[in-house]
Amino acid sequence: MKEILRKCYVCDKPRTKTIKLETDKFIFYNNSYFHYDCFIKLQMKKKKNGVELTYDQAKDLADKMVIKTSQSEVINSLIDRDRLTYWIYENYNLTVLPVLFFQKIKQINDGTFSTRVNTPISYYDLLQMFKKMKTYLDKVNNNNERKGKKIDSVGRINYDLAIVINNYDDYLKWKQKQKAEEIENTETKNDIISKNNININTITSLQRKNNQKESEEINIADILDEVF
Ligand SMILES: [Zn+2]
Repeated sequence: MKEILRKCYVCDKPRTKTIKLETDKFIFYNNSYFHYDCFIKLQMKKKKNGVELTYDQAKDLADKMVIKTSQSEVINSLIDRDRLTYWIYENYNLTVLPVLFFQKIKQINDGTFSTRVNTPISYYDLLQMFKKMKTYLDKVNNNNERKGKKIDSVGRINYDLAIVINNYDDYLKWKQKQKAEEIENTETKNDIISKNNININTITSLQRKNNQKESEEINIADILDEVF
């Protein structure tokens, strides 16, 4: 998939973007993006009370800003929005999406799209739903085409988006079930680990009695692999 890029305030020439938001260490500060190293260099040129920052001082500042950036809801939401739109470009074979579409998904994300959808649906959840429902959405489209109801790509995205939104409640239920199952699985796994620990202790003490090698190891991971 297309990389999510931003322009570095320090080193990027006009019309170039070289910060890879998903893999690079970057900073968002004063409405601009910076490569980590570029931010440090920039800070070292600045003077504080007439004295330039040392490398360590600038690095300390940069490290703090990296954490702040990675915890920023605005930045994470923008990354999720790009992931969603890039996925849509790729899956619907498009290079351009109408401005209206972006306004629409922003409203959905903000929870202001319609009175019928009275809760914000994050870009992240929208993408998960699109991915999960892809086979179903393709099937619906095939049925429509067979009935002579052919729509263009943008029309289809809007049509599919409506289906996705309509299934948000089911998606939430599914998500909750997944969470519950995850907790249950962890509990079962922990149960098995503790039971196996007892068994291993018993075996080990038996082995000691039989004067066998004490260093013999039993791999819990192997046992678990057999169980699941
Ligand atoms: Zn840079």
